[in-house]
Amino acid sequence: MSRRIVVVGSVNADLRVTVERHPRPGETLLGGDGTVTPGGKGANQALAAARAGGEVTMIGAVGNDPNASAALGLLRESGADLSGIAEVDGPTGVAVVMVADSGENEIVYIPGANATVDAAAVDAHRDLLADAAVVLCQGETPADGIARAQALAGGRFVLNPAPVIALPSEVITAADPLIVNEHEGALVARMLEPDADVEALEQAPRDCVAALREAGCRAVVMTMGSAGALVSQGEGVTAIPAVRVDAVDTTGAGDAFAGSLAARLAEGETLRAACDYAARFAALTVTRSGAQASFPTVDEADGLRREDR
Ligand code: ATP
Repeated sequence: MSRRIVVVGSVNADLRVTVERHPRPGETLLGGDGTVTPGGKGANQALAAARAGGEVTMIGAVGNDPNASAALGLLRESGADLSGIAEVDGPTGVAVVMVADSGENEIVYIPGANATVDAAAVDAHRDLLADAAVVLCQGETPADGIARAQALAGGRFVLNPAPVIALPSEVITAADPLIVNEHEGALVARMLEPDADVEALEQAPRDCVAALREAGCRAVVMTMGSAGALVSQGEGVTAIPAVRVDAVDTTGAGDAFAGSLAARLAEGETLRAACDYAARFAALTVTRSGAQASFPTVDEADGLRREDR
């Protein structure tokens, strides 16, 4: 088996505009900055995995429009293998993010080409998936494609169901680990056990992790922002403290965590050690603005690894 991480996921161009306040219906406002940056949870996590030392191949799709090259810019520079990214007719996925002075975001997400990453598209890469050390998926591409990726994964299947979409329970429980934040964890718990009380579980992360394990999940990592993370595999739940940093912008922290975690798992580290590394990788990310732009460089990521020894 290779050490390869295969990410099956979304690729977006994020159009980020700053406004004093959000416009009222029908209103035109003058904005401040307007920037197009690479995004999409799949591409973000693929970049984080590559920066963390992983050999990465990405399976996904972009459109045949100018946004495609903007969306793939940093990932291409990282040396990740992009041969699994199809170019399809139509637009590349776009997220329009309107950031008001209050700090509140309004986001419109247009899946575009990401909607074509279905079971048939994933099937075309069955040999790659069978040989991968880790197959990593999120929730921004079609559910049948994610299910097929899980079925074809020859190594470890890692799932970060963000956003939470309806997936067969056997796909969720096979994840090793399932990576969720408090909100996603509660929603997934209800998907597995319809009687689960989402509001109560969201307020009680340890109970939520226990509920997910009882519902059959092989291993669970729950991220909790500056409160760190919980890991459950085998018996019990272990806390992974967050690194204390001056947070500037937490955008992309979850993707940095999931991608760098996958990279360390592909190298054969234990889940606990991989989580420790991912917490430090994600902490560096929150000290800078943006999503992909805030990820540690290869040198910084190597430095984090040397601290381990
Ligand atoms: P997002 O959707 O914004 O990317 P998320 O909810 O998926 O985030 P978080 O739980 O916010 O993910 O963050 C993932 C991990 O990043 C945390 O478990 C923690 O290790 C690290 N992290 C996040 N915020 C901070 C912070 N303020 N200080 C230190 N570490 C942080």
